[in-house]
Amino acid sequence: MAKREDDPTAERMFDADRQNPLPAEDYGAVRERPSLLSSSLVGSTNRGRVVQALFDRGPSSRAELARLAGVNRTTISGIVQPLLDQQFLVEGEPVPAGEVGGKPARPLWFSPQARPICGILLMPEEVRSCLVSLEGKIDAEHREPLPAHPSGPAEITERLTACVARTLASARRRPLGLGVAVGGMVDTNRRNIIAVNLAPVLAGYPIGEILAGRFGLPVQIDHHPRALLVGDRWFGKGRGMRNFAVVYTGEVLGGALHLDGHLYRGVSGAGGELGHTFVQVDGDVCYCGRRGCWETIATLGWLRRRAAAAGLPEPGAIDSRRLVALAEAGRPGAAELLDTYARNVAVGIANLQQTVAPNFFILHGDVVGGGKRMVDAIAAHVRRLVPSRPGGEVSFDTGDTEDRAALLGAAGLVLSDLLHFPL
Ligand SMILES: [Zn+2]
Repeated sequence: MAKREDDPTAERMFDADRQNPLPAEDYGAVRERPSLLSSSLVGSTNRGRVVQALFDRGPSSRAELARLAGVNRTTISGIVQPLLDQQFLVEGEPVPAGEVGGKPARPLWFSPQARPICGILLMPEEVRSCLVSLEGKIDAEHREPLPAHPSGPAEITERLTACVARTLASARRRPLGLGVAVGGMVDTNRRNIIAVNLAPVLAGYPIGEILAGRFGLPVQIDHHPRALLVGDRWFGKGRGMRNFAVVYTGEVLGGALHLDGHLYRGVSGAGGELGHTFVQVDGDVCYCGRRGCWETIATLGWLRRRAAAAGLPEPGAIDSRRLVALAEAGRPGAAELLDTYARNVAVGIANLQQTVAPNFFILHGDVVGGGKRMVDAIAAHVRRLVPSRPGGEVSFDTGDTEDRAALLGAAGLVLSDLLHFPL
């Protein structure tokens, strides 16, 4: 009988434990079970390092991977061969060995036939899902609007699972897992949503348990800005970086930190509420009920109020892209507002730099639309606010387009877990 691609016992990509879905709450416990402190864990740790090196460096030979992962040639063969057999990796065309001679090397890379990951983005107004290949290609994308006033959680579950089911129907192989980026507070250990602004029905929603129960696949969830960071780490400009931070601006403001090679989450995912760090004692009231949060001065709500006060056209529709266009057209007041907005974004970044010095910031969301002019303005303010240090230059870049970044990040959550990537 032909091997069934959807048979969970047919493929042993990673730990046998992971092939059998467990109740969502148990996933955290699995990682710490004493039985995993065995030689099989050492084996999988080395494998995780090899695969991570491949993500960080791109297509590489066995010899390069062995060196990068710190394992010997025998170990590398023992790791690579099963990954080739399972079509996780493929060998490319031989590359001449160069001046040193020796056998031509065949670079290894992720197979287009490898099992995909299902990335899901849950925002107050809609759910999106897609398949992500290990090369970071997005496929089978579906969207489902969420009702503004749902009758209860069951209605959310219906829309969510319908959307994910449509995506999964396109998968040629059983996905490695489901990763969910949530536009709200989450408990990453229990895989529950704590609260989503504008969607009170999602408070306490056990999304991990619901998806694992419905689809029988491992589920990882995290806060949207942290998913952006994970996407950058695996598929974007954070590849191979030991330290960097992500800052997302738009209707809300959030961020995440990657420090010493680890995504920093805080206890149960409670860290990283950067939008609600305080930048103005006795400042404006934030929707969280407190005063002077970074979010009150560096989001679109602030920008639109100021655009109205400055007499700019269509202030209710203004964003960084339009503001830069108005400034470049010489519209009175636009360049000044752009500079103040950039400074407001920079203030929180400067605080982060002073606290943990990630030195590299990837900007996502609205400010990306403002292009180089906006990013340069933010960077200039940060450099003005942070004392310079030799070798401590602060640099900036922009993330993938908003549509892609969150879905790649959601998929990246699954990858981090599969590779035992340290939290
Ligand atoms: Zn706040």
